[in-house]
Amino acid sequence: MKLIFEKSFPGRIAFSLPSDSFDEIKLEDSLPAKYLEKDKKQLTEVSEVDVIRHFTKLSKFNYGVDNGLYPLGSCTMKYNPRINEKMAGLPNFVYAHPFSFPEMIQGSLEVMYKLNQLLCEITGMDQYTMAPASGAHGELTGVLVMRKYFLDHGEKRHKMLIPDSAHGTNPASAAMAEFEVIEIKSNEKGTVDLGSLSQAMDSETVGLMLTNPNTVGFYDEGIETVQNIIHDKGGLLYYDGANLNASLGISRPGDAGFDVVHLNLHKTFSTPHGGGGPGSGVVGVKSKLIPYLPTPLVDLDQNTGKYFFKEVGKKSIGMVRSFWGNFSVLVKTLVWILSLGSDGLYQCSRASVINANYILAKLREYYKPAYDRYCGHECTLTGREYKKYGIKTLDIAKRLMDYGFHPPTIYFPHFEPYADETIMIEPPESEGKEVLDDFIKTMIVISKEAIENPELLTSAPHRTPISRTDDAMAVRRPILTYDDELILKDELNYQEKDINF
Ligand SMILES: *Cc1c(COP(=O)(O)O)cnc(C)c1O
Repeated sequence: MKLIFEKSFPGRIAFSLPSDSFDEIKLEDSLPAKYLEKDKKQLTEVSEVDVIRHFTKLSKFNYGVDNGLYPLGSCTMKYNPRINEKMAGLPNFVYAHPFSFPEMIQGSLEVMYKLNQLLCEITGMDQYTMAPASGAHGELTGVLVMRKYFLDHGEKRHKMLIPDSAHGTNPASAAMAEFEVIEIKSNEKGTVDLGSLSQAMDSETVGLMLTNPNTVGFYDEGIETVQNIIHDKGGLLYYDGANLNASLGISRPGDAGFDVVHLNLHKTFSTPHGGGGPGSGVVGVKSKLIPYLPTPLVDLDQNTGKYFFKEVGKKSIGMVRSFWGNFSVLVKTLVWILSLGSDGLYQCSRASVINANYILAKLREYYKPAYDRYCGHECTLTGREYKKYGIKTLDIAKRLMDYGFHPPTIYFPHFEPYADETIMIEPPESEGKEVLDDFIKTMIVISKEAIENPELLTSAPHRTPISRTDDAMAVRRPILTYDDELILKDELNYQEKDINF
């Protein structure tokens, strides 16, 4: 497809104002010289219909949850009810000035106060900070809170235990807080090996960062033992709650002994994500850690019925994000929770776990799972069977695009025994059985193609505007602006396809 600049035709215009409208105005007279463009760039000359068609075409190149199944494992790409957007778009939220006096923004403060109460109820924690802007940012905040707690207690602890099945952001966050990361191997069931954990835990260790269900989609067993191992040595337990979609209304990390929890509001609690945000990685703590939380925290004066920003003491880790965090995400989360209610939240997690197990059951024969056991909200399959036909999991993922599906997460997890050709599928609760059946049928068709016509897969996708990009270059040298010198298509190895959309 041509760029809009390449569609330019001298003299073509997209407006029809009377030709003498601007005769009176001389820009040179009415604008200061510094604002006048000296060397006039060639502007695109196109008609209105050209503009409309161009951008409509571009919009169809995109794929999102509103187009179809988006089964990215670990990402929880669920449908976002429009009521969330409508509420987050209310003018009093959108135009609230972050420096407003609390009396003027009681509604916004109430959102933060009520959301804190609900999240505490859902997870069994005592207080949340709404400041962190993403899951990874929440981890860093939580880990800094843990660090401050030990410093405050005069304890020098410098190690953090993290299972090999953790999301890559966990070790990164611990390292940013200057902790030495100690990896805990998984056992034969794909969960934390309690023996290794017990051996690694000592009085120099801050604690453990655990994800449950883990990033492979398995529920960790023996949490009671885990918490005894950590707490007996004076450590703290961190819960990566990005996968809470599998346990809403079923279990609460607070009840299981976790001291710090982060949630990905942009995964579990709807909110569009995938294009880079905005997200929210709120962090909840048990009461003994509240003094270390960052600002701001909202409270209610029971006498006057007014909400206010709480004073935080000297122990606070300070600010981690400007103003109130990503406030619009908080509104969406509150609306989502209130519109589902407690039974709705429970049904949501049930459905997401049933969906993942349905796919696992239907596809296990075609795409061997690394471990044969029930999964949580996502299942991990592999494309190992097709290696002998010269097919990689990447080819299977690319071929899915031809059938109109977003590819699942591939090559993750990357530790043994998964390391080989993994495919991680997460079909959230918002997907109905027909959609899952369609996906399953397609995956089976592709498994047959892999054997009978492998070339079809290795050269896929065939029906997308561009085919295979150079993954490394696409990340390292993204070209986001138009500059004909920069568009070195050959160098970037684009294979443009002539497709009529
Ligand atoms: C997505 C995810 C994260 C990181 O969240 P971001 O918002 O992408 O920073 C951390 N842990 C787990 C288990 C996740 O799935």
